[in-house]
Amino acid sequence: MRKKVIAGNWKMNKVLAEATQFVADTKDKVPGADKVESVVCAPFPYLSELVQKSAGTDLEIAAQNMHYEESGAFTGEVSPAMLKDIGVSYVVLGHSERREYFAETDETVNKKAHAAFKHGLTPIICVGETLEQRESNQTMDLVADQVKKALAGLTEDQVKETILAYEPIWAIGTGKTATSEQANEVCTHIRIVVAEAVSTDAAQAVRIQYGGSVKPANVDELLAQSDIDGALVGGASLEADSFLKLVEAG
Ligand code: 13P
Repeated sequence: MRKKVIAGNWKMNKVLAEATQFVADTKDKVPGADKVESVVCAPFPYLSELVQKSAGTDLEIAAQNMHYEESGAFTGEVSPAMLKDIGVSYVVLGHSERREYFAETDETVNKKAHAAFKHGLTPIICVGETLEQRESNQTMDLVADQVKKALAGLTEDQVKETILAYEPIWAIGTGKTATSEQANEVCTHIRIVVAEAVSTDAAQAVRIQYGGSVKPANVDELLAQSDIDGALVGGASLEADSFLKLVEAG
């Protein structure tokens, strides 16, 4: 049985006082980590403080991106070693907003996945199609390609530890959720791709989240699907009450 992982992706939202208030309001109320993994993906400036404020609780703190190099002349970037050093445990890689606005590619996502494991960080790797790609029947091929390229060269054990997030771009921030059947169809396909590319054991172990307009009203139905092991949530993760409802559903 795969443990569900519910991650709130705050994106570029909140000032420090709001971020710390959120953690104060949720850290002692999230379910035990033996039942569900509760993760908040916060902006870089707050990570260290949020890690300290949530220490000893079942709330985990994640970064939303990182560079793949350990250190060097990369002005403005944050390295995996820095994230590990301050106690971050997960990192989101290849979010569609980073692919669209910040030139993230399958190749850099793959380099970052390797770097994450080298530094003991769990990657949450995002894949997903645009509306145009869905309407021209490219979803399955595109997502398969993104998954294979992201995981290339990882060991079977590393793939087992990886979290994949299927986020159809047309469902992000639009209020349009993929139906639970549509979401599960792609997540099942992703699992088959992992089985073929890596192994059936890795495919059984890898966790696959759905993301795109997930909210308390639709999370139960999505999580009830056979191949959906969690959710990556934007807008509905910003309020403590709403986030707590989501993790309780896990
Ligand atoms: P929304 O939940 O706001 O649609 O965002 C989804 C997302 O992009 C999470 O990474």
